[in-house]
Amino acid sequence: MAIHEATVLLIEDEAEIRRFLRTSLPAHGYRLYEATTATDGLAQVKARNPDIILLDLGLPDVDGTEVIRQVREWSTIPILVLSAREQEQAKVAALDLGADDYVTKPFGVNELLARMRAALRHIAGPPGEPAEPVFTLGDLKVDFGRRQVFVSGKETHLTPIEYKLLTTLIRYAGKVMTHRQLLKEVWGPLHVEEGHYLRVYMRQLRNKLEKTPAHPRYLVTELGVGYRLRTE
Ligand code: CA
Repeated sequence: MAIHEATVLLIEDEAEIRRFLRTSLPAHGYRLYEATTATDGLAQVKARNPDIILLDLGLPDVDGTEVIRQVREWSTIPILVLSAREQEQAKVAALDLGADDYVTKPFGVNELLARMRAALRHIAGPPGEPAEPVFTLGDLKVDFGRRQVFVSGKETHLTPIEYKLLTTLIRYAGKVMTHRQLLKEVWGPLHVEEGHYLRVYMRQLRNKLEKTPAHPRYLVTELGVGYRLRTE
């Protein structure tokens, strides 16, 4: 499937955002369908089987998180949440329920398109082994076969947990992962509340991989939500 032919279902009650996307998405080759309520949105997900869903959380009939819960019962269609700045807890809940990513309103079309591309790329393969045996990003290189990490060509030793944290972020490169998702993937489901593990290991990883750990280029914090491996 070529990304430029992807179909998008927008579930959003704000007319202004629908108008904005009605002009900008088709201009970038997406076919756009619209719903203004959760009920109509869910019906259209089933009827149209879109390639990606853009979902507002504050819908007039049912909360957007309920849409995520219901869609995830039967589908892995990428879901990108359009959220207001103050909805931090709702964003986290949405991601934990299985949304793929979010953009915060007001957003620019380029940011949205980048997030949509990342979400659509993600469905090319299920989260498991990385598709490429070697991952490169700027001066960072990871050889998955040999489990070696290089920064500017120089091998950097990572502990097993640091390596697992890094490769987990690489599997979801470009997409935000919540604290709970990372804790579950790296430490296991019994440790989803141990946020301090994550802070400690993220600091160590930044010290080893980032030129300026206080202003990371790759391992970026999504405030109040989680972390993202920045790829653009
Ligand atoms: Ca709304």
